[in-house]
Amino acid sequence: MKFKHLILTTLVSLIALNNIEAQVKVMAAPGNMKTAAKQAFKTYNIPTADTTNIYNELLNDETDDLMENHPAGDIYDDIWNSERVNPYKVPVSSLPDSFKIDLSDFVMPVSVGRVSSKFGPRRHRYHHGIDIALPVGNKVVSAFSGKVRIIDYEPGGYGRYVVVRHDNGLETIYAHLSSVTCKLNDVVKAGDQLGLSGNTGRSTGPHLHFETRYIGNAFNPATIINFESKRVYADNYTLTKRKNFGYQQQKAKSASLAKYYKVRKGDNLSRIASRNGTSVSKLRKLNGLGSKSIIRPGQRLRIR
Ligand SMILES: [Zn+2]
Repeated sequence: MKFKHLILTTLVSLIALNNIEAQVKVMAAPGNMKTAAKQAFKTYNIPTADTTNIYNELLNDETDDLMENHPAGDIYDDIWNSERVNPYKVPVSSLPDSFKIDLSDFVMPVSVGRVSSKFGPRRHRYHHGIDIALPVGNKVVSAFSGKVRIIDYEPGGYGRYVVVRHDNGLETIYAHLSSVTCKLNDVVKAGDQLGLSGNTGRSTGPHLHFETRYIGNAFNPATIINFESKRVYADNYTLTKRKNFGYQQQKAKSASLAKYYKVRKGDNLSRIASRNGTSVSKLRKLNGLGSKSIIRPGQRLRIR
């Protein structure tokens, strides 16, 4: 073991002396998710020592115990943060164009319930997960093998929630739990219990809010999981920037096109709609207004 480290250290020093950039690119063969992801970090200039990355890379190819307790540590550049859901701040534009994810050990996080809200735009905020409505107190299990990265409570948002970093490179979030039955840094297998379903945080009824993320970027879980059959679509799934993360571009575009109107005295929805070339139903949808909602002077309405 010592000898191997010596060779690696020497190699790393040599690489460091030469052109690190070029060396990293040589190793980033197409389809190599780990290196590609590392380049995502590199492109975005997250301050890390390049030599350390290469060192880890080389070590990771060996059956070395050094990496054993760091699932997906290389993809995440060894960032292990128990406070923030997305400490990485790697924008979608820096992700590799495509990368394979091993989904073969998937277990459906809950064994009962049905999808009550899909991933996508929802009123003012984007819904970055899938909601599964089910009674309080049902078992919630880890979808894949990994390690518990966050256990926290967010009264205005996720409520009681758990974030797991998986060996396959994904991270998943389980929110609105009534209780958490795992501990921080627990190594879990797919199907191991994390907690019990609940109705905590910003929630209008008992449900599990479930998210799948790759280096902090959420993507639609329904692209990999068939929530009807409770199975994944493929054991080895290729995520692509265009297919799985393209929604972020649309999101940005829709935000840049947004137009607002300040309600004046005597206004009503149909008058505002006709004056702005839209319909009452569109206004209701954009602003999350029910049929009985009342608009008040001074209120800001999104009209586009
Ligand atoms: Zn949700």
